[in-house]
Amino acid sequence: MNDPDDATRKMQFLFALRSKGVTDARVLSAMEKIDRGPFIRGHFADRAYEDMPLPIACGQTISQPSIVGLMTQALRINPRDKVLEVGTGSGYQAAILSQLARRVYTVDRHRRLVREARAIFEALDLTNITALTVDGSFGLPEQAPFDRILVTAAAEDPPGPLLAQLKIGGIMVLPVGQSDTVQSLIRVTRHDAGYDYDELRQVRFVPLVEGLGRDA
Ligand code: SAH
Repeated sequence: MNDPDDATRKMQFLFALRSKGVTDARVLSAMEKIDRGPFIRGHFADRAYEDMPLPIACGQTISQPSIVGLMTQALRINPRDKVLEVGTGSGYQAAILSQLARRVYTVDRHRRLVREARAIFEALDLTNITALTVDGSFGLPEQAPFDRILVTAAAEDPPGPLLAQLKIGGIMVLPVGQSDTVQSLIRVTRHDAGYDYDELRQVRFVPLVEGLGRDA
């Protein structure tokens, strides 16, 4: 993104984020720095700077940028945090998280998506991200507990293993609800004595599916 048209597109991209409620300066600067272009291949590549979800490989979608911004903002990440993302997809959300946290683990059930995302992380020199092919509904026990957990696929309820892998004081943001209807984005905060639940907004995500993808 170096010619004047690209500069204009980038300004419009950031303007759209602000107008949809992404106001956190650190989140905006991470989204300014990480270009969404490389995370989208094929004939949708020229729509990378529109505030729209777009199709990616394995029948999945890269989320709408304003939703990425709002979810990231809702996580209230601290620079020392260890974050788990369930649902690597294109890798775009993980790349944004990598700018705000100390360490990011991102998992997907499709090996191909993990492989392609890893190649982009390497090309962009995002060395604090580890991408793994696992069923994220069980979390990532070997790296738990996490300060923050972000789930980018919808489950009917917050998966028990993810609740258990959240630190006391930790925050998890995830969409919950039936897969083919409108879902609620919720924020779960873990306290000494239990969990608090906040409903943030309505969203629509692909479903969280158990087991590895057929390509894995
Ligand atoms: N965060 C992504 C978009 C995710 S789309 C981005 O920035 O592009 C949701 C992803 O969740 C899909 O890639 C899908 O394969 C993955 N997914 C669904 N169920 C899963 C599970 N049980 N474990 C890990 N990943 C899962």
